[in-house]
Amino acid sequence: MKRRAQTLSTPEGGLDFTIVHRSRVKRRLHLELDDAGALVVVAPRDWPDFYTRRLLRRNLAHVHRFLRRARNRQWPALDYVSGELHLVEGREFPLRVIEEQRRGARVRFADEELVVRLAQASPERVRAALRRWYRERAARLFRQRLDTMRAGVDWARDRDLDLQLRRMTRTWGTCRSNGVIRLNTHLVKAPVDCIDYVISHELCHLEEMNHGPRFYELQERLWPQWRSYRRHLRDHGGRYTRE
Ligand SMILES: [Zn+2]
Repeated sequence: MKRRAQTLSTPEGGLDFTIVHRSRVKRRLHLELDDAGALVVVAPRDWPDFYTRRLLRRNLAHVHRFLRRARNRQWPALDYVSGELHLVEGREFPLRVIEEQRRGARVRFADEELVVRLAQASPERVRAALRRWYRERAARLFRQRLDTMRAGVDWARDRDLDLQLRRMTRTWGTCRSNGVIRLNTHLVKAPVDCIDYVISHELCHLEEMNHGPRFYELQERLWPQWRSYRRHLRDHGGRYTRE
């Protein structure tokens, strides 16, 4: 497949991309990222480049949003070695791995660092220790945020709610009509406002299961700042879910 490197000057600087032609593609702007994170525009065979460029220029906001979100999904996996930065409630702290004779692993979060002590410090074992630690922290924090938020919500205040945690890659939370609220454990790495946003979203589902106008009315009432945190999770969520 032939690919030509191109640049489009935009108010935010040069936008680099390549155009590939495929015969079977929808006749609209079709964007992809290659493995190196570069923008690829897929165009039908009979589109001249000037037409593709004009379409890009007319849809710059869409292109930049696509790039932010697609690159957000390309975060590399963590190495679990000393000095690497790890997230706690939206802030980064250096990890320190200390190998010592002991049974089990111990994680301590103090003095602006995350210290893991264990006998054999392989990345898998450090990751397992951190997963347990994050989970315990998430269980405490999510419960506390949920209780605080539901206290002000007439339809949720007296409901029996079953809070469950699970590590997920694409979903921040779910809510079932029987009162089971499941939150993504990885949220404990995001700013607390993001946790509150997801909890408020799930609380609204207790009253309205569908994402219709009534749902957003409730969401607006419960947590008026919700839009910026939804955007934050869409643009940066990959930082919180990567392991
Ligand atoms: Zn929802």
